[in-house]
Amino acid sequence: MIEVLGANKYFGEAHVLRDIDLTVESGEVVVVVGPSGSGKSTLCRTINRLESLSSGEIRIDGAPLPSEGKALARLRAQVGMVFQSFNLFGHRTILDNVALGPVHVTKVQKARARKDGLELLERVGIADQADKYPAQLSGGQQQRAAIARALAMRPKVMLFDEPTSALDPEMVNEVLDVMTELAREGMTMVVVTHEMGFARRAANRVVFMDAGQIVEQDTPDAFFTRPSSDRARDFLSKVL
Ligand code: ATP
Ligand code: MG
Repeated sequence: MIEVLGANKYFGEAHVLRDIDLTVESGEVVVVVGPSGSGKSTLCRTINRLESLSSGEIRIDGAPLPSEGKALARLRAQVGMVFQSFNLFGHRTILDNVALGPVHVTKVQKARARKDGLELLERVGIADQADKYPAQLSGGQQQRAAIARALAMRPKVMLFDEPTSALDPEMVNEVLDVMTELAREGMTMVVVTHEMGFARRAANRVVFMDAGQIVEQDTPDAFFTRPSSDRARDFLSKVL
């Protein structure tokens, strides 16, 4: 479970997160939507402490986020993150990319990590690409490898920041299908996306952000059919 309590973030003078309170229950899938610059990425990045908060607190399963050292490395393992750009290690094979984290961070034996890694690649449908290098894969395959790499750390929570935005349209669904399956399996997920079909299909809750605030949050059905704020109505008129 993720608890964001009274979170504020400033970049210099810019107040980019404003009194954010958000609870994501275990097994819940929360889709975050909102205009460009509204603070969606910053919110994600504070949850795995790629950014620190200016004030407020974030807890994962009741424990405050550690700020440094081994505890921070463990937190990063527990909170998987998948970005728009795939961020795979270019000079390592796909299987190495998936197996390296468990070996180096959580001290899993190499043979075990490779076996688990292959199973994960199977799960995301790219086991046949295990021995290739990232540049030899399509964007959709690379993004599925990035998801497998995050899953290899056995995270409690997965954060996705526009995971399909850099993909050619024909590859979007293969990534969304993997995410939908993860959601069905009960993974706790926070997903920033413009894919409203995914939000309708997989989200328990949609959170709408604007100008650093959570303006409203509701079930997908209620949010898409009866948004309560002018700002959300305006946003939806542009994206739907
Ligand atoms: P998009 O939909 O375009 O990805 P977003 O909702 O993810 O937008 P953020 O990237 O969180 O928005 O940015 C929120 C605000 O914080 C923006 O005004 C942005 O310019 C600013 N910002 C983000 N990161 C930094 C940074 N490292 N330094 C200074 N300002 C930043
Ligand atoms: Mg963003």
